[in-house]
Order: sequence, then C-alpha cells, then structure tokens
Amino acid sequence: MTAKMPAVFLGHGSPMNAIEDSVFRQAWQALAERIPRPRAILCVSAHWETPGFAVSAGARPETIHDFGGFPKALFDVRYPAPGDPALARRVAELMAPTPVHLDAERGLDHGTWSVLCAMYPKADIPVVQLSLPRNRPGSTHYDSAKRLAPLRDEGVLILGSGNIVHNLRLWGSRDERQLASWMRFKDEVKRRIVAGDHGALADYMSLDPEAALSVPTPEHYLPLLYILAVQTSGEKVAFFNDDGPGGILMTSVLVGG
Ligand code: ZN
Repeated sequence: MTAKMPAVFLGHGSPMNAIEDSVFRQAWQALAERIPRPRAILCVSAHWETPGFAVSAGARPETIHDFGGFPKALFDVRYPAPGDPALARRVAELMAPTPVHLDAERGLDHGTWSVLCAMYPKADIPVVQLSLPRNRPGSTHYDSAKRLAPLRDEGVLILGSGNIVHNLRLWGSRDERQLASWMRFKDEVKRRIVAGDHGALADYMSLDPEAALSVPTPEHYLPLLYILAVQTSGEKVAFFNDDGPGGILMTSVLVGG
C-alpha cells in the first residue's frame, strides 16, 4: 500500500529562482526532503494553456525556455527528467468523459522545471504536465481536477505551479495602496483555504472588489484549484513562502503531508 502523497501549490515567481539561492528556493528544497519521495510528478503549470485539456505524453520531454530577457545561464539549464506516458494515459482515463489530448511533443516549461530543479535536482523522477484549458470558469477547473484525486494513492505528487497574486506589470511596486490590496487578496484566499470554502476560491473574482489587481489574468491563480480539489475532507493544510515582492506573492500551500 503506497502512502497517500501530499499535494502542493508552489508560488514560482521569477525563473531566476531556478539558479539563484533564495529563501523561496530553500523552502522548495526543504519540502522535497520532508515529504515522501513520489513515484512520479503531475504538474499543472501556469505556463501551459491550451484550448482543451492536454497532457504531456512523451518519454523524453525537453526543457522549454519560455521567457525572454534573462541571462544565458538560465537558458543553459536543462531538466532531463523522464516523462511517463503510462501516467499520461492514466490522467486521460481519470478525466473521462472530458477529452484530454495526449501531446507526445510537449516539453517541461519553466513553471515546472524552475521549482523541480530545486526540489529534485537529480531529475530522476518522471514528470508529466497537465495543461490549463483556456476560457473556463474556476469551477470547471476545480470540478475536473477532483477526478485526479486517486493519483495521490498511486505515489504521484500533484504539483500546482503559479502565483496566488501575479501582476507582472506592477511587479516590484512599492505603492502602498497596491501592496495592501495584494495582501488583502492573499489573506482572503488563505482564510478561505483554512475554512475549506473551495466554492468561493473557484469564484476568485468575487473574493475581493480589487481581485483583478491580484489576478489580472487567471493562469497563475488556477493551478491552486487543482491542489484544493484533491484535498480530502478536513485534511490539514499548511502555508509557506508567504511573502514576495510587490505584484507577485510566493505564498505556497501544502495539502496533507
Ligand atoms: Zn510564471
């Protein structure tokens, strides 16, 4: 009997966390040492959006450098973890009758590898990515993700990678009113997580009158819903990396574990 794996949402922030030491990166390393070693990892990253659901299904996913304006050292990073085509098929099976495209060409984006290269630097655990379908309400993401819950009993670490507050345009802002708005949104999200009020979290634009300042586009917030959806009733949650530069908060959530 495999122990039930935790599920985790990581605020990933700048891709530079992949190669620069930071308190955030150190927390990712510490997390990997604390939780059971997974058989495989299923990652829902902010950086893969598709018309419908898709899953990476190749045996050797390449490292995708899906950003610009960063040092060459970041473009030189490779994260050669194997894929897991059988897990990709299992994900599609669990999601039925919702269709899931098996994408044998898809690699790993930086939402995935920038955190995994800190957590599992040997890149010896198979990784599969599940995409975010575009233009769906939060409730669709949440309800679909619920079907992935059995994977937690199959040695699979379900990892959401995004940011609860992600306003790249205002990144680094010291504007006090904006900072207060971001903290208020983040604290409301945490309060609802503790209360188990997932319906409100799926309807995230209603959480605060200024929600659009924290979630100007949904893709960095949505991976959080995939983690909450696989939480069992009353299961413990813990927060860490609960900080960050204005505009991007790194607040992370561990479910179980
Ligand atoms: Zn990102």
